[in-house]
Amino acid sequence: MTSADRARGAFVDRYGHEPSLVWSAPGRVNLIGEHTDYNEGFVLPFALPQRTAVAASPHAGPEWTVWSESAERSVTFSLSDLVPGALRGWGAYVAGVVWALRGVGIDVPGARLAVVSDVPLGAGLSSSAALECAVLAAMLDLGGATDALPRAQWPLLAQQAENAYVGVPCGIMDQYASTLCREGHALFLDCRTYAVEQVAFDLAVAGLSILVVDTHAPHRHADGEYADRRATCEAAAAALGVPALRDITELSAALAKLSDDVSRRRVRHVVTENERVHAVVELLRADRLDAIGPLLHASHESLRDNYEVTVPELDTAVDAALTAGALGARMTGGGFGGCVIALIDAAQAQEVAGAVAKAFAEHGFAAPSAIVATPGPGVSRVA
Ligand code: ADP
Ligand code: MG
Repeated sequence: MTSADRARGAFVDRYGHEPSLVWSAPGRVNLIGEHTDYNEGFVLPFALPQRTAVAASPHAGPEWTVWSESAERSVTFSLSDLVPGALRGWGAYVAGVVWALRGVGIDVPGARLAVVSDVPLGAGLSSSAALECAVLAAMLDLGGATDALPRAQWPLLAQQAENAYVGVPCGIMDQYASTLCREGHALFLDCRTYAVEQVAFDLAVAGLSILVVDTHAPHRHADGEYADRRATCEAAAAALGVPALRDITELSAALAKLSDDVSRRRVRHVVTENERVHAVVELLRADRLDAIGPLLHASHESLRDNYEVTVPELDTAVDAALTAGALGARMTGGGFGGCVIALIDAAQAQEVAGAVAKAFAEHGFAAPSAIVATPGPGVSRVA
């Protein structure tokens, strides 16, 4: 059963009638372009088949009740809660979306919602954006405003909900991917201009797969380290006299102007990572998907050595996947835990996943889990 069918069933069980509508939105993985978003650079995510579904109906009065299968409980909020800080926990992701929509003058009716997700929570596959984007679409639809707000603006409001209401300083990639991705494509996104290009990413035709390995590594100090990397990048851009690290055109000249080694390595990562995104896009446009492996691995090495956001579990998973025959592998997401992606021959999924599990056992790490990811569509109405 899809998450949408389960959300519909859960809605009927909870509220005793059919929902008016069901929307669902996907999680994502980032193929390449890590820690480039807040430097106004480039990213290349694609949507996962795993989705978060929201079944909803309007309800009398400005009050919202949301039940989530993952949370195993419901949250109710009303108009007085629609101020940042009023609600904590997972309900804030939903209230934040209602708050953001009302902030741009969209009159979101009171509603009952049931949420069911296949996207693992907190694994770096963007369950948060999947939830925000599915709720946003369902709320717009309930308010009869689906066409009133251009789809390119949906991600911005979802991000605003997460930044300003939930209080998480995330970039724009996740909400863009969850909203705008297309089946069989990766989304080439310019995080400064928000220009997008759908780049064909047909793994099946190439006989390849992307294996996503969730390391289950605990996120060690991830929030503090993320803030630290952002601050270092902003300080380096200021020292170099550019609006953002994305604007550096001569890497060696920029490096020569920086006095400390840490800043130099952070800048080297961001500049070369943007170059790698462009190189991967060029290869995909030229129908050379099978040639992107070395760029994925170079990205991982830079994240490990220059940006220093990997942990032993991520490095072990990448090394084991490559040894088992992957064409390329890298950590994906912010780092300090989370997932690794490996580009593999479609017939090799079990072998590579098994090799990673074996290496984890040898290192005494918790058992990882793996899924094969095919690029799916963005947010859509499913019933
Ligand atoms: P990621 O987005 O990588 O999964 P985040 O930490 O950004 O990790 O978001 C995870 C949080 O989002 C969860 O802890 C929870 O608060 C919220 N969340 C996401 N999906 C759901 C869901 N289906 N039901 C309830 N809360 C959810
Ligand atoms: Mg998230």
